[in-house]
Amino acid sequence: MARELPTELLNKYYARGVELCDAETSMFCYCGRLATGLHTMHCARFATKVRSKCKELAKAAGEVW
Ligand SMILES: [Zn+2]
Repeated sequence: MARELPTELLNKYYARGVELCDAETSMFCYCGRLATGLHTMHCARFATKVRSKCKELAKAAGEVW
């Protein structure tokens, strides 16, 4: 059953998604550039990956993103 996730939960998934993506890009970002914190914060490719991680996490938890 589809329902809206509370912002608090969305933020939790988002933070976890960023963590997972950071772990995967210890040297280079998904776009191939050096994965500095400053870069990944502004990288569209990184943001897309974070969103897909969020969806996976929510799905695994039985939530609808
Ligand atoms: Zn990047």
